[in-house]
Amino acid sequence: MTSTARALRPETTLITAGRGGDPAQPINLPIVPMSNFRSGHTAEALAAADRDGTPAIENEPAYARGDGAPGWKAIEQLVGGLEGGYGVAFSSGMAAIAAIIEQLPAGATIVVPSDCYMGLTHLLADGAAVGKWNVRTVYAADPDEVEAALPGADLLWLESPSNPLLEIADIERLAASAHAVGAVVAVDNTFATPLLQNPLALGADYVIHSATKYIGGHSDLLMGIAVAKDPADYARLMRRSEVAGATPGALEAFLALRGARTLSLRLAQAQATAMELARRLAEHPAVTCVRYPGLPDHPQHELAKKQMRGFGAMVTFDVADADTADTLVAALQVIEHATSLGGVESLIERRAKIPGQEHLPAGLLRFSVGCEHVEDLWDDLSSAIATATTSRS
Ligand SMILES: *Cc1c(COP(=O)(O)O)cnc(C)c1O
Repeated sequence: MTSTARALRPETTLITAGRGGDPAQPINLPIVPMSNFRSGHTAEALAAADRDGTPAIENEPAYARGDGAPGWKAIEQLVGGLEGGYGVAFSSGMAAIAAIIEQLPAGATIVVPSDCYMGLTHLLADGAAVGKWNVRTVYAADPDEVEAALPGADLLWLESPSNPLLEIADIERLAASAHAVGAVVAVDNTFATPLLQNPLALGADYVIHSATKYIGGHSDLLMGIAVAKDPADYARLMRRSEVAGATPGALEAFLALRGARTLSLRLAQAQATAMELARRLAEHPAVTCVRYPGLPDHPQHELAKKQMRGFGAMVTFDVADADTADTLVAALQVIEHATSLGGVESLIERRAKIPGQEHLPAGLLRFSVGCEHVEDLWDDLSSAIATATTSRS
């Protein structure tokens, strides 16, 4: 967006981003499969190709892996703009995460939450095993513990709300503490989406999104977006995209932008339903624990209220044990038993059955609340809970 354009609210930007102004063209960007650009652009064409509000493409665009493709640029501009930085699209959320972590100098020290996306844990363990970096794991909901681990760190990684325990980290406080010891700060904002939380405004240097989840919203694509606050960091991400080549496909870029059009509607509906279901689950005698940042008894509820504009649509709850949880999941008719999250369809998964997640309570269920009617979801859940609890007695 140019400096003279009126600033649009995020709900509107989601719908207008990437639209062309040419009356002969469709309203929305079509699928643009491409690898290379024609050489010999005029200065005018180059100016038109620049990402609005992002650093100018200084050289003539030649090849998509290095210069970006039109479909990626639309979703990069959208997510980058909503986060208040400069976005770079990757082939998955993990590729976006790796693009930030693998820029660290050899032997770097990374502070990482004990509860975080499992792919990150694996990436860090693999690198640590071959001496690339040192990892310090902290309970990120305790800022004193994080601060005690920061001296000598190069990168503080945060994920808030975290997967799957929905812990909230104090991004503003911890970003300041990390900067005070010279560490950069990256936040995985996948669960909150750019609509509910903007880590760059709270002091972070990088934000990543798995666009596979809420941004895409339909469980039909893989994509990641890394957003840098600083243009020099953005240039490094573009360089990473060029040299490592984990770039998205044209169809994925189209689907991600198309999905993002309805992000605010989907999220509003799913979030309201999540709040209601979390309340009802908390009152259910067979449910032993509900973790949802919107519940007043969530340990970081006040912090969530302060740094987020909503509590999201992920709810984690526990039933007595693994058998009860497995029977419950098998009895569901509307809610799908599957991994992943952030789509219009509600998904549920017993996390401790996944290799590497055995430390979680055996009866813990991660519930990605979708856009179905709240009463259909409650009917499904409450009757599955009844099946699971009566079949045991
Ligand atoms: C899914 C997810 C990722 C990884 O994204 P992919 O697109 O699957 O590579 C990272 N962080 C969080 C919080 C996620 O949910």
